Amino acid sequence: MNYSASDLDRIVKDIAEEMKERTDRGEVASYIPELARVHNSAFGLYVIDEAGNVGAGGDFDTPFSIQSISKVFTLTLALGKVGDHLWRRVGREPSGSPFNSIVQLERERGIPRNPFINAGAIAVTDVILSGHQPREALGEILRFMHFLADDESIKIDENVASSEQQTGFRNAALANYMKSFGVIDNPVNLVLGVYFHQCAIAMSCRQLAMAGRFLAHHGVNPSTGMHVVPAERARRINAVMLTCGHYDGSGEFAFRVGLPGKSGVGGGVLAIAPGKASIAAWSPGLDAAGNSHLGRVALEKLSKRLGWSIFGG
Ligand code: GLU
Repeated sequence: MNYSASDLDRIVKDIAEEMKERTDRGEVASYIPELARVHNSAFGLYVIDEAGNVGAGGDFDTPFSIQSISKVFTLTLALGKVGDHLWRRVGREPSGSPFNSIVQLERERGIPRNPFINAGAIAVTDVILSGHQPREALGEILRFMHFLADDESIKIDENVASSEQQTGFRNAALANYMKSFGVIDNPVNLVLGVYFHQCAIAMSCRQLAMAGRFLAHHGVNPSTGMHVVPAERARRINAVMLTCGHYDGSGEFAFRVGLPGKSGVGGGVLAIAPGKASIAAWSPGLDAAGNSHLGRVALEKLSKRLGWSIFGG
């Protein structure tokens, strides 16, 4: 659909206002104690298209914990380091299992199904850590976020990182289990330290949508014209987001929204309308699969209003 800049902003604001009113808000994640403190009344939505037109509604400028959305950016960095060799230690099939499931790993000899379940993301972080101190690896991840979002104010929330460090027993189990198969090269405690800190990066919807632009525009940042990744890589990352970005809710997200997307237990969702726009939604209440409930509802409304589903209007 053709729209003007003011149409886009109006549509986004309408959806945000409607979401603010809704009473079905899902449940805020409580297994990371620091995340349980976030108010479930928050809702933000931000869209930026190729021409730089913006739609911004609700709490779009409030930073939240990006959690698993960080996995999109660490996947991009790790592919930049080792290219397709990455696919030897992590698969690219949907898991059909919860984000922190351990059962599949045993059957599949320690090779995680995809880079977006926790086990896969930990294996990807291990690749980024190799040859570096944890502090350097984290610095690299954070600088990448600054570069993509064109915003140096993006930070790690140390309270969230230490909260997860103290309670991340399942992730420790996954990492140790993979280590026993030789899938993790570095010491498990160091890999987990980097992983917990990357998940604790705090960003607003605006910053996240800005950071996702290269995925919407064939690997290019449309405001500078700079290639972040080759077009083929952007296309493939989008494919993995579509099939695996919402854990065992990925089918439902594709069915309803029809866009590649990645959720985090902080309630954020990054969604990509290829060739059109980068979108971030945030509502902290989650559904049973651990994905933002109203984030998904809002994105379904947005893609319908604009005819953006990749499966056709
Ligand atoms: N840091 C979270 C964990 O490892 C990420 C999960 C998510 O956002 O889905 O449990």
